[in-house]
Amino acid sequence: CGIVGYVGSVRERSDAGDLDGEYCALDVVIEGLRRLEYRGYDSAGVAVVADGTVQSRKKAGKLANLIAELEEHPLPSTLTGIGHTRWATHGGPTDANAHPHLADEGRLAVIHNGIIENYAELKQELLAKGVKFASETDTEVAAALIGDLYRGAADGDITKAMQLAAQRLEGAFTLLAVHAEQPGVVVAARRNSPLVVGLGDGENFLGSDVSGFIDHTRRAVELGQDQIVTITPDSFAITDFYGRPAQGKEFEVSWDA
Ligand code: GLU
Repeated sequence: CGIVGYVGSVRERSDAGDLDGEYCALDVVIEGLRRLEYRGYDSAGVAVVADGTVQSRKKAGKLANLIAELEEHPLPSTLTGIGHTRWATHGGPTDANAHPHLADEGRLAVIHNGIIENYAELKQELLAKGVKFASETDTEVAAALIGDLYRGAADGDITKAMQLAAQRLEGAFTLLAVHAEQPGVVVAARRNSPLVVGLGDGENFLGSDVSGFIDHTRRAVELGQDQIVTITPDSFAITDFYGRPAQGKEFEVSWDA
């Protein structure tokens, strides 16, 4: 339902955000999720890339539940993170069904808005390859597909894995992925579901709408239908699902948040 992504470099901030410790990706992501709460949701979760691993926390219920979980089981301060508030469509609102969903033996984390219409047939295909599932969601099938392609045809390139996966997914999706082997990178795809890039100075953002990053920047790029974007702290690159360079629509957020 609500999606936020962040890649940054070390930032000067006097306040330490929602969580104890230094200001980091997680604070940006939680703030963004809070801004997106108005859309309604039943669960929330986050993932960060830290020290060659992906680490995530997720909880059914309000953001407060997730924050309590993060206080009890903190995640490292890092500069790459994603966050999601879920409105369940496939699988009830449980901790296990909350996003992020992991794949590639826990090295890949994926969040998703929308519905993957052909998830059942893809799941059969992946089950036959020996992939194990931990939830009832359509999203985990997309995560497993991206993970399978990352190890296979995409040859360890997360952008390429997202492109190849997007070619096979039907329905509506805004998908974000981070991989343990690619710190400082968030890749996203969209079809029939919105995605906006927020452009910062030494940091970039992704949001299901501009509310996800409005506290940080007003410079935004709206992705077109069937596009992929890869953000790093100082770059963003848009392609179509086949890797051909594409353009989003750049605009300035004018309304007051
Ligand atoms: N279909 C996905 C699920 O049920 C995503 C729902 C959403 O857009 O939040 O987990």
